[in-house]
Amino acid sequence: MTDCLFCRIIAGEIPAKKVFEDQHTFAFEDINPQAPTHVLVVPKKHIPGLKEASVEDADVIGRCHLTAAQLARQRGIETSYRTVLNVGPGAGQSVFHLHVHLLGGRSLSWPPG
Ligand code: AMP
Ligand code: ZN
Repeated sequence: MTDCLFCRIIAGEIPAKKVFEDQHTFAFEDINPQAPTHVLVVPKKHIPGLKEASVEDADVIGRCHLTAAQLARQRGIETSYRTVLNVGPGAGQSVFHLHVHLLGGRSLSWPPG
């Protein structure tokens, strides 16, 4: 999708600080970090969001979470971090290419706002 920001980042058309890439997933630093670690992990396949995902997307959505867990281990925050998917504008989704936020490196309160 040429009009999708994250598809364009994956394609290298828009610069981003890539931290990981494999066959199915792509991870980069959030441009407006909300924690010392704030990485976005996205499927290379364009999926608008979790509510648009289907069972055939289960594998890649799981892989995004496993990539987040691997990055958390690499950064030494594996005992305390959060993965978040915002679903819909009312929950804060602003980019409509499914992404897992990996947040850590500070205390994280509950419930989130
Ligand atoms: P959400 O609000 O859950 O849709 O998350 C979108 C995230 O994308 C926000 O945390 C933004 O800061 C981040 N973001 C927007 N544009 C870029 C960009 N060009 N590079 C990296 N992160 C971005
Ligand atoms: Zn996309």
